[in-house]
Amino acid sequence: MKPQDFPKEIRSYLIPEKAGRLAYHCLGCGTVHGIDKLLYTCPDCGQVLLIQDEQFDRLRQIPGPLWRRIFDYRRMLKIPALKGIYLYHEFIGSVIPLSDIVYLGEGHTPIVSANNTLQELAGMAFFFKNDGQNPSASFKDRGMASAFSYINYLIKSGKIKNVLAVCASTGDTSAAAALYAAYLKPHVKSAVLLPHKKVTPQQLSQPLGSGARVFEIPGVFDDCMKVVEHLAEHYPVALLNSKNAWRILGQESYSYEIAQDFEYDMAGKVIVVPIGNAGNITAVMSGFLKFYDIGIIDVLPKIIGVQSAHANPVYRYYMEPDPAKRRFVPMAVKPSVAQAAMIGNPVSMPRVIHLAEKYNQIAGEQRVFFVEVTEQEIMDWELTANHNGHIACTHGGESLAGLVRARQTGLVDTDETAVVDSTAHALKFAGFQEMYFENRFPDEFGIHPDPRLMNRPVYMRPDDLEKVPAPGNPIDGEDFEKFVRRVSEEIARTLDLVAL
Ligand SMILES: *Cc1c(COP(=O)(O)O)cnc(C)c1O
Ligand SMILES: [Zn+2]
Repeated sequence: MKPQDFPKEIRSYLIPEKAGRLAYHCLGCGTVHGIDKLLYTCPDCGQVLLIQDEQFDRLRQIPGPLWRRIFDYRRMLKIPALKGIYLYHEFIGSVIPLSDIVYLGEGHTPIVSANNTLQELAGMAFFFKNDGQNPSASFKDRGMASAFSYINYLIKSGKIKNVLAVCASTGDTSAAAALYAAYLKPHVKSAVLLPHKKVTPQQLSQPLGSGARVFEIPGVFDDCMKVVEHLAEHYPVALLNSKNAWRILGQESYSYEIAQDFEYDMAGKVIVVPIGNAGNITAVMSGFLKFYDIGIIDVLPKIIGVQSAHANPVYRYYMEPDPAKRRFVPMAVKPSVAQAAMIGNPVSMPRVIHLAEKYNQIAGEQRVFFVEVTEQEIMDWELTANHNGHIACTHGGESLAGLVRARQTGLVDTDETAVVDSTAHALKFAGFQEMYFENRFPDEFGIHPDPRLMNRPVYMRPDDLEKVPAPGNPIDGEDFEKFVRRVSEEIARTLDLVAL
């Protein structure tokens, strides 16, 4: 729809202008730092940062119901910069002019209702939000769109040049960073650090395909993270991990999208996300808090963070019911099929502690919860979901297993409706599905396949056929007719089909 065709009272709000005053806020010492430089931690105390708009109060001039209409109408515009996370420009990166926004098709991923069979199995109504339908096939693209739009803005305004974007990754961060960096060629180059043999072949192919420099490092993600932090401290590089607060800001769109998809009615809603480095759950809490603060939503939804028992430092922290006695202890992780969440020392832990407390306090009751699940449950629920028409990755399976656990333990009620994050596309983690189908998980995973969920291809080559076609070697005539008939007969027999 063209701007002149929108209702008069909406028109002036449709296309956002550069506005607001963003700043880094330190969660340790409270110092506020300007955003003209790329900062990842507080120069004074070393703590992580969150970006805040010093002029956030200006957004209150527009009442909540009008904001809802603005966002709903804005969705009908055909301006690429406003098609992704910057549909919520005023809340996401309001200082970036539309002309500098990088949009590669991220955000606004579909929410797909579970069918009746799957809802019965899970014991309640729920949707998957398919974040695998982002351009690099994971939710990380929202944060990268934000971070790279900001970098692009700094480049265009002459504040930085020849940027080298670096990140450590369990696979998806590097895929996303390399993709967005490639788009900003020749001003931006990228280098990614991956734990050797701890990302899937599909994930490894992504930064390679985007032309990034790829380094494989011994150890696990937490080790790569330390190297990247050292690089960021000692060399002129742009850090693209979720330590970078611009990543968090962009990922807040996830909450805004859900609010909009449910007509801003968050009553009885439960948001389920897996936790690795804890950037995602940070952004989800922060996003809902902002929309609630401005009156765009009237209720803060429940949030359930899920971890595998093999990498559960956040869950362990919250196992202690008395906040005064909680102590964060980084852990050595064990192998997990939720490989992108195999993190023992989450960078965003201070953000989670800060925001979960704030969230519960503003809600007036506990509304952020943490559960853990087994590796077996993760695989079984992923495959069960996909047997019912979904494209969930292992982390989607982890989230669904977490929802079921939360229902069983009474954290959620059967009359609530959940939105379960399938954070990446099933195809990225097809190797784990294969290990399940072939029953060859190493013992340390503790996964024993359920025969009802296993599946194998059947090679159909009837023994009585002398000739079968081969690539470059077709057969014809009677041989071919016989081939078609015999193979059909064998398939029909296998499928118990009765001839017409
Ligand atoms: C990064 C990632 C996670 C973990 O998200 P955090 O923000 O690190 O907690 C989960 N699933 C997938 C597929 C990911 O790529
Ligand atoms: Zn500080």
